[in-house]
This record gives sequence, C-alpha cells and structure tokens, in this order.
Amino acid sequence: MGQEMQIRRMPIELANKIAAGEVVQRPASALKELLENAIDAKATEITVSVKASGSNLIQVSDNGTGMGPEDAVQCFERHATSKITQSEDLENIRTLGFRGEALASIAAIAQVTLNTKRGENVQGTQVRIDGGQLLETSPSATTVGTIIEVRNLFFNVPARRSFLKAPTTEFRHISEVFIACALANPWVTFRLDHEKQEVYRLICSRAENFQDALRERLRTILGPEVTQHVVSVDESTSYISVQGYLAHPEHARKSRKNQYLFVNGRSIKSASIHHAIRTAYDAILPEGRQPVYVLFLTIDPHNVDVNVHPSKLEVRFDDDRGIYNFVQAVCRRAFGIADLIPQYPGTSSSLDFQREPKFNSWKPPPRANELRPAYDEQTSIVYEVEPSQLPPGVSSKPDSFLWQIQERYILTQLSNGVLVVDQKAAHQRILYERALEDMRSGGGLSQQLLFHHIICLTQQDCDLLHELAPQARALGFDYSISENRTVTIQGVPSHIRTGAEKEILQSILDAYKENTQIALTPLPVEENMARSLASRCALQSGVKLNEEEMRTLIDRLFECQEPSRTPNGKPTFIRVTLEELKHRFGQKISDHDEVDQTIL
Ligand code: ADP
Ligand code: MG
Repeated sequence: MGQEMQIRRMPIELANKIAAGEVVQRPASALKELLENAIDAKATEITVSVKASGSNLIQVSDNGTGMGPEDAVQCFERHATSKITQSEDLENIRTLGFRGEALASIAAIAQVTLNTKRGENVQGTQVRIDGGQLLETSPSATTVGTIIEVRNLFFNVPARRSFLKAPTTEFRHISEVFIACALANPWVTFRLDHEKQEVYRLICSRAENFQDALRERLRTILGPEVTQHVVSVDESTSYISVQGYLAHPEHARKSRKNQYLFVNGRSIKSASIHHAIRTAYDAILPEGRQPVYVLFLTIDPHNVDVNVHPSKLEVRFDDDRGIYNFVQAVCRRAFGIADLIPQYPGTSSSLDFQREPKFNSWKPPPRANELRPAYDEQTSIVYEVEPSQLPPGVSSKPDSFLWQIQERYILTQLSNGVLVVDQKAAHQRILYERALEDMRSGGGLSQQLLFHHIICLTQQDCDLLHELAPQARALGFDYSISENRTVTIQGVPSHIRTGAEKEILQSILDAYKENTQIALTPLPVEENMARSLASRCALQSGVKLNEEEMRTLIDRLFECQEPSRTPNGKPTFIRVTLEELKHRFGQKISDHDEVDQTIL
C-alpha cells in the first residue's frame, strides 16, 4: 500500500536549502556572493580569510555602509534585498546583487555569524544563524562595515560536502573569484589570507583612470613580466565600451587560466566573446594555446540581461552579434597598433575599426579549418631579395615603400621586420569574404556590359546555373538563359577584371563542380560559390601592380575577418621579424655593434 500523497508547502528552511544548491555550488560561490555584497555596500577595504580552502571558514570583512539592527536580521530572509523594488528595476541593474537570495541560501547550509554597524549607529549588531535557524541577535562592539563569517559550509547537507574537490582545487576557485573581484575594483584594497597566511595584498590604486588603475592591479596579480608586454584595449562607441589588456602571445598557456571577462563590472563567462577574442589572436597564436586577457565591456544595463544564470555567471545581450564583431575588431585593432599582426607602417587607418560598428551586420566566425600561417617554413622567400635590388631612396623613407617581387609577392617593412604578401592568395581571401558577404546581403554590385556576351553551356552546366541562380545574382551576375542552352550575360560582378567577363561564368561553374568532387564533406552552396569565385577571379601571379594597387590590396586584406589564410587554408602573407633576420645572418640579437660591423 503506497502512502497517500499530499501537496504541502515546504518549510522555509527546506526551500532555502534547495535554493542554496543552485546559488552555492562550492566555497568559491559563497565567497563570490559575499564579495559582491561588500562591493555593493561601497567598501574600499575588503579582507578575506579562509580556512581549509573555504570549507571550514570564509570570512569577509568590509568597511562599507554596514546594516542597522533590523536589516541585519532581515537580510537573511529570502528575497530580502535593498537593491531593487519593482520589476522594471530588473532592466536597469547597476549593483552586483539583486535577487536577495544569496545570504538566505548561504545561511541555510552553513553556520553564519554577522557583525555589522552603520555609521550613524552607536552600536553594531551581531546575528548568529545555523542552518537557516536564527540563534541569537545581540548588540556588538564592531566598527562601521560588515564582518560575515561562514563556517562549515554544507554541514547539514553531507552529500554536497562530500562532492567538494581536493582542497587545492577548491582554493584555486577561491583565488579565481577573489582575483576577478580585485581586478574589477582596482580602487579597493583587497587581502586574502589562507590558514592565517597572507596570499594576496592588493593596495588600492591611486591612478585616476580605470585603465591605469587596472594595469597596476594586473602587475601585482599577473606579475611584471606579463604586464610589461600587455596590449592595451580602450575603445568606446555610444553603445559599448571595451577596456582592458591582452597579454602578449608569448605568455599564452595551454589552459584557459587567466582569462577574465567582465560585463558592467560583473565577472562572467561567455563562449561567444571568448571566441571573438581568441580569433583575434588567431594569426599570432599557435593552435592549442590560450591567450591571457582581462577585458571589461560596459554597456547600458537595458541592453543586457544579467538575470539568466543562478550564480549570475552568464549574461544575455540584446545584440550578441554586434558585440562579437566589435570585441573582435577592437582586439585586432589593438594588436595592429601594437604591431603583433602586420599593420604596415604609415597606414594605421587601413584597419578601419574606428567607424561605429554595424550592430546588425553579422560576419561568421572563421571556420576551424582555416589555420594560422606557419611563418618559419616559408621564410626562405624573403632571402631571395638581393640588397642591391632595393630601389634607390628607400632607406630615406623606409616607412612607406611597397615593392613587388617577381610580379608575385609584395614586400613591405614592418616596424620590427618585413612582411611578404602573396598577391594572388591575398586577393583570393578578399574576394572570398566579399562574395560571402554579397550572398548574405544579396547586394553584390553588378557591372553592366556594354556588349552582351553570349555563351553556350552544356545541359549539365545549364541545370547547375539554374540551381545557383540566387547566389549568382547576389554576386552581381546578370544573365538570361534561352531554350537552346545559350546564356546572354548582361552584367558581371563589379570587381571582375576587364577581359575576363566572357569566360568568368563558365569558369566559376567549372570550379564549383571541381569543388563538389574533391570536397570530403559536402560544401554549403554559398561556401562553394565563394571559393569558386575567389579562385577564378583572383589576380594571378605575373600581373604587375602599381603602388596604389599594392596598397589597396594590403589594405583590403587586413580588413578581412581572417587575413592570414586563403579560403583553402594556404598562407596569404609571411612575416619575418628582425630577430629572425639577425639570427639567419648569424648576428647576435640586440647587439648593434656587431650588426654594424657585418654591414661594413
Ligand atoms: P542581494 O545582494 O541580491 O540584495 P543578498 O542576499 O546578497 O541579496 O543580500 C541581502 C541584502 O543584505 C542586500 O540587499 C544588502 O542590503 C544587505 N547586505 C548584504 N551584505 C552586505 C554588506 N556586506 N554590507 C551592507 N549590506 C549588506
Ligand atoms: Mg548579494
């Protein structure tokens, strides 16, 4: 006989205990909530002290506003918050906390002592709670601010306590939470003690702007070595601003440690923004390496939903794609300025990211099969250059020369080396991205032909052209097909070189069929079309380019999403650093005297 089921309202302590399972997964999640409360209370000094990686004690002391005797009790009630009062407030959250459930959740599964005092009160208040049960409130001789002690987390949920990982793992999580909070608040002094030993002491910055203050904090946390070589990011539009630092590729790691991302001061995880940053590093970071970065996004609270995750670790943006593009663009631009990826001298405007981002235009993230260039294997090309062949006058204005070699490669100087661009490969990349964009927007420009070209297709090609009509028209082809398989071409994409108008359509169809046959997995129609057009319309080797053409080509290349590879994955450029050149010439790096002697 089964027991009769009856629906009952669960006791409040049980409800809180269940809720705690969502908010508090481990000691570090409790610490995160306590730190957020201290920051929300405008503390300028915060001290954290933990024992047994937080499972025996997490104590957070702050010099913030503190609480009066009533609030000191009330704050442990579920949905007790001083931060929002009506549902509209949810769309305009400017504090870290807003749900009023953290303290209730923590108190449900731990033994908590709170000491708190407001400036205007003579006395402070002490509140003790055990597993959600109020044990005692009493006056307390404490200073202005709040000290909260959380002991024996999960003491009454043994199953969860046994889920805790090794103490070193739990402590790693504790320090990550602590560091994230310290990075976001460089004007606050932080200390972290473990078993009474000081682990971090971070003095508040005196710098006036956030970027400088953050850099100071970074130096203490990541060390002077890493901080010396960081690339600064600081860009704003009316919609979003991005600030922070990207570490030099040489400090990249195998793990994803030290990747800090914040939205409106809140530490979050976002696979999409991480991807945007990682792809900005693509050309300069080997496969399998993870960059170190600290980035702060600031955006109007109305345009981001922070109420989508139990521990507030994820957010949802109104315009994911725009933000993806913007973050990627500002990171690329920052690298360009720092000359980590080629941005050849005198053309800083070529990476034209200064314009306001188009928040509705989405460019696809690069495909995984487009890998980075293998500079070293290819460097020999550069040594084909005979010094005597250098055009006269180059040394007087070394910043801006562009030189075509063998009617095939374009050579230019970088601030710390040389850049060699393969003109055909570069043009393929440009045409490919442009074709994809044209097919997506349907807006490829068409060049109307004064004399129409008439071509005759096989039945198979004719059927294929019918099938590909939407893509062909989006690219800028304008044609009509008559009964007897003749095609009258009235217009071609505007960038088709003169003389090629007649063959180009047939040529693209041929490439399309070839791609279908050789591809291991079927290519999407657009992808195949873009590749076909790029391979058949690209500038060939053996074409002489004037300076303006070379400059435009390089400008366009570095405006691409993935400038470093052709659609088929071949390198489009090679960069040889000065160090590498010196090394190949058997010269000591940074030994100027010796270099001079060799030249003489
Ligand atoms: P929330 O932060 O979402 O409001 P919490 O449960 O974390 O919810 O905290 C409840 C309330 O307790 C807060 O709204 C705040 O008024 C008060 N409080 C918590 N911690 C502190 C603190 N360190 N200093 C001052 N007030 C605090
Ligand atoms: Mg809170």
